Order: sequence, then C-alpha cells, then structure tokens
Amino acid sequence: MLNASNPASSSPLSTSLRPQEGPSPSLDHPEAKTDRVQAVAAAILDAFREGRIPAALSLLFIRRRSNVPSALWSWRNRLLAALHGYGDARGFRQWKQVGRHVRQGQKAFYILGPRMVPNRHRPGDPEEEDRVMVGVVGIPVFGYEQTEGAPLADDPEAAADAAFLAALPFAEVARAWGLTLSAYPPDGTGKAGFFSPDRAAIGLGVRNLSTWAHELIHAADHQRNPLLPGQHLDQEVVAQFGASVLLECVGEHQESDLGRSWSYINEVCASTQSDPLATIDLFLERVIAAVSLVLDTAEALQAAHLPAEP
Ligand SMILES: [Zn+2]
Repeated sequence: MLNASNPASSSPLSTSLRPQEGPSPSLDHPEAKTDRVQAVAAAILDAFREGRIPAALSLLFIRRRSNVPSALWSWRNRLLAALHGYGDARGFRQWKQVGRHVRQGQKAFYILGPRMVPNRHRPGDPEEEDRVMVGVVGIPVFGYEQTEGAPLADDPEAAADAAFLAALPFAEVARAWGLTLSAYPPDGTGKAGFFSPDRAAIGLGVRNLSTWAHELIHAADHQRNPLLPGQHLDQEVVAQFGASVLLECVGEHQESDLGRSWSYINEVCASTQSDPLATIDLFLERVIAAVSLVLDTAEALQAAHLPAEP
C-alpha cells in the first residue's frame, strides 16, 4: 500500500482539510483549535483508510562521536549512557577540566569500571604500574545535557546535536513540563527515542521530527493517563498517531511521516491482532486531548512572552 512513487513533498491529505499555513487566528479560540485538531486527525484517518500513504522517511541516526572520553568506554558502558539518553557523559571532575559543571539537582548515573588496587606483592611501586583488578565498581557520570558552562571546543557533532535540539518545534513545551532533552547515538539500544517519566527526560537517537513528536505526545498523554513501562498498544498508537496529527497541525506535512506512522501502528496492532483503523478510532479522543495539550501549552507560553498591550 506504499505510494512510493509519490514525491515525499506532496501530502496525501486533501488540500481542503489541510490546516492553514502559519499562525492562524482560529487558534485563539480553544474550541476552534480542537475542531482543527479533529479535522486533521480525520484527514489522516481518511488517507490511511484509502491507502494514500507515502513511503516512510529514512531515519537519520545520531552518530557516535569519536573525540569524547566515552568513545573509549566499553560498549556496555556506552550502551548504558545511550539508554540514559546521553552521547557524551563524563565524571564530575572531567567536566570541570573542560570548564563545565554539573547543574544543581542533577543525578549521576553509573557506569562500571574495574576496581584496581596496588599489587601487594610489590609495595611502594612509585610508578603504580603494577595494579590488580579486585572487582567492579560503579563510577558516577553525568551527561552533557546535565552540565552547563563553557562550550566544548572543536566538536562539530556536539554542535550539530545541539542545533538539532535547539530547533525542535515545541521544545519550550517539553522544558515547561520540566523535561530534559538530549541526543544519543542509538546503535545497540534498539531505541530511536524515549520518554522517561521517572527521569523527566526525552532522549532522541535520530534527527527525525516524527520521533521527537512521538515522545512529546507520550509526555502529554502521561499527564492524564500515567504511562506504564514498556510498549503498550494504547500508549503507542496515541503517541504515533498523535505525532502525525501534531506535525500536520503546524504544517510539517513531510516530517509528519504518515508512512512511518502507518507501518508503526500496524506493527503494534499486529502484536495483539487488533485492527489498526479501529484501534486509532478507539483512542482518537485521547490523541486529540494530547495534541491539544501541546498546542495549548505552546500558545500559553507564547502569550506569556508577548509584551503587554498598552
Ligand atoms: Zn512510544
């Protein structure tokens, strides 16, 4: 059912239902906005029903950096950092050495290192070269995003990650909800992104807006329907369909990645032998509530930053 011959730039949504580009005066009224979110959701459902589905966009993976200390870690420790959502993690003192410090209230996570002691059979060795491993010890480290201070010099990958995170639409919404955003190389983790309510964090392993929107919708949905750990049909369908609705609402017709949404929703529905269209229908109210919450929060934040009227 993939319509790969269609250029990705053409939206499968009928133009009459496509939301207006740019700021819309109708957004001033909450009811009008909910109508618009509903109309966008209905248009996507129609496209799915009629098989007007573009090919999924390819995933742009965050690359592993070579010039950071963690590049020398074991793959297990790199995986631990990635699972915490960090591409660059270092110890407290290591950050100090490069002019950065750990932000107040940030909690360390632990990588595993060998516990070394001097070899008792050769006491007093000034070179301390003869050490033996007597066990494994947890070493506290912090991710780049948990620190602040001097920018890291000569790190084009870090700059690219930071630029990607800085340009995310609705990043201010996530921050207003107290969430930390970070990028990590996803190789070996099996995760293109995650939302962790416990750590109040969203991590992205790809530079794809639809993955970002998926995690942000999880965070919105979580406020009314506390998320259960792991993958659950309702949570995943709400997050993925909601991601496409949210991005279509703001005119991101390509990045809404309807092709990926359709295949992802099919995949999660297959695990419970559910019909994808009926499942989307079942959770549509929840999708609209989550998308509206993101849009409302963005609007409220914007209003708070507008100069007061004379
Ligand atoms: Zn998810």
